[in-house]
Amino acid sequence: MSLVGAGPGDPDLWTVRAARLVRAANLVLYDALVDAVSLRALTDAPCFCVGKRAGRASVKQETIHRLMIRAARQGKHVVRLKGGDPFVFGRGAEEALALAEAGIPFEIVPGVTTAVAAAELAGIPVTHRGMASAFVVLAGHTSEALDDALGAVRPNSLTVVVMMAVASRAAVAERLIAYGWAPGSAAAIVCGASTPDAWTWTGRLDELAGAESPAGVAGVLIVGDVVNVRTALMGATHQVDEAPQDATNRQDAEAGEVKYGRS
Ligand code: SAH
Repeated sequence: MSLVGAGPGDPDLWTVRAARLVRAANLVLYDALVDAVSLRALTDAPCFCVGKRAGRASVKQETIHRLMIRAARQGKHVVRLKGGDPFVFGRGAEEALALAEAGIPFEIVPGVTTAVAAAELAGIPVTHRGMASAFVVLAGHTSEALDDALGAVRPNSLTVVVMMAVASRAAVAERLIAYGWAPGSAAAIVCGASTPDAWTWTGRLDELAGAESPAGVAGVLIVGDVVNVRTALMGATHQVDEAPQDATNRQDAEAGEVKYGRS
């Protein structure tokens, strides 16, 4: 039994160990944000999507626990493949505790978390010397979660990454400003990082609510001066194996934004 992180979406960002375990699996239970096509290309084992997406019916957490435990007891090598890192939100630790309680031995395989990688893939470093010496990662889907964390940090002192919050971005911006963050703070929304749906918006914190993000694509909000680093990096970063010979910029189909490329 393995609890495995699948990174932000692009299977190139799986760890070598994740790919090895999937190849050897007898059963894969995966999250909605995992690339199912690449997954099925790696293994002949049955693969079931048990993931949750906001607004859609999903398999209950207890059912996921039961499925894992039953298959592991049958001697199957089960891979529970979760988006990003298994222990960054997404209830991975609950699954680990359920396995531990059932006496099932299991391995935890870290993954590339979107808490850092989504910003990074958009050219935004979560820390930068002289600009941000810390970052905080919050869950933004409930105001209680936000208030707990925002009450504990000094406003305008570090980078804020908010997950599960694109739909509630207006409320997040309003709470940050209420806690003392400058309305003019640099802000970004990065959706679908590392996937073909990648989309990035940058602007001011008080403009976040008005940004029109693509529907149904997971994203993070980022607030802090580090967002401005993107402007300097944007023209210089590219995917090496995809860079065209003449290295012209490629445009984001939806937003007309530069994703990779050299100008
Ligand atoms: N364990 C995951 C997070 C699970 S919570 C991790 O470590 O990344 C789900 C949230 O992750 C989404 O609401 C969104 O905030 C973020 N997310 C997942 N995939 C993403 C992607 N490709 N680009 C941007 N954000 C993403």
